[in-house]
Amino acid sequence: TWGRVKQQLLESVGRNNFANWIEPLELTKVDNGVAVFSVPTSFMANWVSRNFADTILTHLKAANAPASRVEFKVAAHQPQPATSEPKPAAAPVVAPVEPAELPGAPLDARFTFDNFVVGKPNELAHAAARRVAEGGPVTFNPLFLYGGVGLGKTHLMHAIAHETRTRNPELRVLYLSAEQFMYRFVQALRDRQMIDFKQIFRSVDVLMVDDVQFIAGKDSTQEEFFHTFNALVDQGKQIIISADRAPGEIKNLEDRIKSRLQCGLVVDLHPTDYELRLGILQTKAEAYRAQYSGLQFADGVLEFLAHRISTNVRVLEGALMRLFAFASLVGREITLDLTQECLADILKQSDRKVTVEEIQRKVSEHYAIRLSDMIGPKRVRSIARPRQVAMYLAKQLTSRSLPEIGRRFGGRDHTTVMHGVRRIEELKGTDSQIADDVEMLRRALEA
Ligand code: ADP
Ligand code: MG
Repeated sequence: TWGRVKQQLLESVGRNNFANWIEPLELTKVDNGVAVFSVPTSFMANWVSRNFADTILTHLKAANAPASRVEFKVAAHQPQPATSEPKPAAAPVVAPVEPAELPGAPLDARFTFDNFVVGKPNELAHAAARRVAEGGPVTFNPLFLYGGVGLGKTHLMHAIAHETRTRNPELRVLYLSAEQFMYRFVQALRDRQMIDFKQIFRSVDVLMVDDVQFIAGKDSTQEEFFHTFNALVDQGKQIIISADRAPGEIKNLEDRIKSRLQCGLVVDLHPTDYELRLGILQTKAEAYRAQYSGLQFADGVLEFLAHRISTNVRVLEGALMRLFAFASLVGREITLDLTQECLADILKQSDRKVTVEEIQRKVSEHYAIRLSDMIGPKRVRSIARPRQVAMYLAKQLTSRSLPEIGRRFGGRDHTTVMHGVRRIEELKGTDSQIADDVEMLRRALEA
């Protein structure tokens, strides 16, 4: 059974995780509902039980194994690192550490270069990451990636790890967060395993530490990080670091570390712009459309989201996921209305505070009509069309409902507003002049 379960685990955790964490497990017995595995080291036992225990158990149960719990025991023949006994003379002083023992964090299989959408704001960071992943003579060391939350730092680091492992399976790539680095360090101190700790961290070929700002102000962790960093750089090993801000701006980080971090390549991920957000939404929506086949999708929804949701890609993804799930649940087409209904809370938070009045003013200036005509009763096309453009923009750029917009256009009915919005949507596809006008006005209003 374990053989078959392993096959399924391979699929569910991905090849890298499988090779590092699952392959070395040996099922020793299933006793009283407890499946006991033997693992080569305590590092591994810890890591596997924290990260993979649930998955393993789920698959065991699915295969009808009589297990309700899993346990990981360090194989008896392993020397216990905590003892201070001298190592057997035959053992090499620096024993090679197998990749399976690297105390890294599991990699997200979806965070690859293929899944990373490139735009102006992340172009440089992406190029630098690719370059580092291609290996060869070390060019930038360290590569320091920084930027705000949800802009793709972790994604790029995982992508480097995936790519490096594919190109050079023998390289020892270690990815972990600065928080995990600290945790490992404190644990090693407590368990008197500092020698092992140093040995492991100084024997990797590529070290990636995510969110390094976390160790600011944590003196002994910084100290250890500094020495690890230097030891690796001296050996010509690649280091990749991320943080939420530039090295010089991290408070309570030792100066010598700051200057070390600055001596390679420092690149930032800028907040996403409209084009990048739209690109990301289009890519992800494609995937969802395949997943929820049969779901109808109105034009303009992705553009609306790209306008209205914040620069944080995680928020953007979450919104899209919710939208698809909601639409498939209620069995409705994804329209602008449905989007506004389903994402009201998110939209409210990221409201850019463009007002309907501002839109009316800008639009009437653009078409050289009087502001009073915008809300007045005239129906000639030279006035009605700009009015519809303004209604369309009000729907796109504010979180006002159709009745609220109608009220601001001289007390018009919500169906009139809806008609106006639809009309402009249609015209945008057939009349390039209107499409350009709308685009230009939108930019002006959002600037
Ligand atoms: P950070 O580490 O900078 O806070 P993450 O790397 O965790 O951000 O990214 C947040 C989410 O957004 C992830 O799901 C990631 O896949 C996604 N993401 C960020 N940037 C992009 C991009 N350019 N293309 C595709 N997905 C992206
Ligand atoms: Mg991150």
